[in-house]
Amino acid sequence: MAIKYVPEPFRIKMVEVIKMTTKEEREEKIKEANYNLFNLKGQDVYIDLLTDSGTNAMSQEQWAGVIRGDEAYAGASSYFNLVNAAKDIFGYDFIQPVHQGRAAEKVLFPTILKKGQYAISNMFFDTTRAHVILAGARPLDCVVAEAKDPSKRSKFKGNMDIEKMERLIAEHGVENIGLVVMTITNNSAGGQPVSLKNIREVSNICKKYNIPLDIDAARYAENSFFIKKDEDECKDMTIKEIIRETFSYGDFFTMSAKKDTIVNMGGLLGVKDEKKYSDLILKIKANCISFEGFTTYGGLSGRDLEALAIGLYEGIDEEFLKYRIGQMEYLAAKLDDAGIAYQAPVGGHGVFVDAKKLFPQIPYNEFPGQVLAIELYKEAGIRTCDIGSYMLGNDPDTNEQLQADFEFTRLAIPRRVYTQAHLDIMADALIEIKNRAHEIKKGYKITWEPPILRHFQASLEPIQD
Ligand SMILES: *Cc1c(COP(=O)(O)O)cnc(C)c1O
Repeated sequence: MAIKYVPEPFRIKMVEVIKMTTKEEREEKIKEANYNLFNLKGQDVYIDLLTDSGTNAMSQEQWAGVIRGDEAYAGASSYFNLVNAAKDIFGYDFIQPVHQGRAAEKVLFPTILKKGQYAISNMFFDTTRAHVILAGARPLDCVVAEAKDPSKRSKFKGNMDIEKMERLIAEHGVENIGLVVMTITNNSAGGQPVSLKNIREVSNICKKYNIPLDIDAARYAENSFFIKKDEDECKDMTIKEIIRETFSYGDFFTMSAKKDTIVNMGGLLGVKDEKKYSDLILKIKANCISFEGFTTYGGLSGRDLEALAIGLYEGIDEEFLKYRIGQMEYLAAKLDDAGIAYQAPVGGHGVFVDAKKLFPQIPYNEFPGQVLAIELYKEAGIRTCDIGSYMLGNDPDTNEQLQADFEFTRLAIPRRVYTQAHLDIMADALIEIKNRAHEIKKGYKITWEPPILRHFQASLEPIQD
């Protein structure tokens, strides 16, 4: 079957050479890396799909902006360009640049969450979860049930489970819920989108109980594209109109700009109503100065602020988004043809292959997602990562290995970096591995691990038959 594709809405002006190694070399390299893909050198990777975070290709306009960047410590023109762009797109009164998404969390959460409180989300991203805990509160995940069934093709699998949210509030008591976080798109569930209707409903519940709503907005542009494509009542709206309405339902947003705003480093924090939250804004500024730097640079260089101001507009261009989501759909269609399961329908920033389906013989505590990640590297020099039990880690109290809801291998696609030929290599490599999957009898065991966030640093070893 001929699979449809959306051609690149750009041409290439500058190239970066990548090198294919031999299979023998890769087997040696991954062994030297203790079977942990984070330990590989970038130059030993042919196609790097470890993450879509900060791995974007900037445009000629952004690079021109880098040269124009104003490096004044205070009041740089690049700061005003960024704030004006962000106010225009999101419609918020107050915008604070920070160096990345987790910095926005670190600056905002302690000003809102009190010790012993809870925060509810459609699903917390790792660093967001960590900053809720660091603020003394507890995170509660509340995604719709269908998100946990990779083969169930329903739209907006990233949504909040509204009934469960009401139940959680009743169970824990309104006064103990300090914050609600809507993650768009829902990264941990596979880049799955959240509908505008769901955001509106969540916002209504928050208003009813007087709980503030934070939008974790790393992939707000991809989410808006899905809303336009799949939510009937929004099909005639522009991407910008959808973004405006989405953000109108929040009180704050925290954003990693390393994703949809197509830069390599940056973050934003927004507060919608300057008057209502004037005291909070003072605390945000104080935290920013302590942790990030003066308020008009927030841990970024002037050149970063300038590139980000331009990237905000490039990232919401509908032609770009059509091509971007088109890449995911092209790769997913190839996997459909080959009978390879993934979190379906495909989400916004990558394809999350169902490694549990591919290796039914490998139990969760031998890490099927990591097995596939290692095989992809050995097969074609492709670097991906496990989103499963290997990443989840151990129970902090009993130290037992936890079993994750999914065993995914994530192929995260950087923006404007890889071509259709690269997508074909990814699909071909997965098909090769599928054909010999039954020959792989055993997974991996961990020989060393740090106490938290172990997947970045752990050492592994193949289990012998
Ligand atoms: C990446 C990400 C973050 C954290 O951002 P960093 O820039 O990596 O610090 C927070 N939330 C979501 C949903 C993300 O994808």
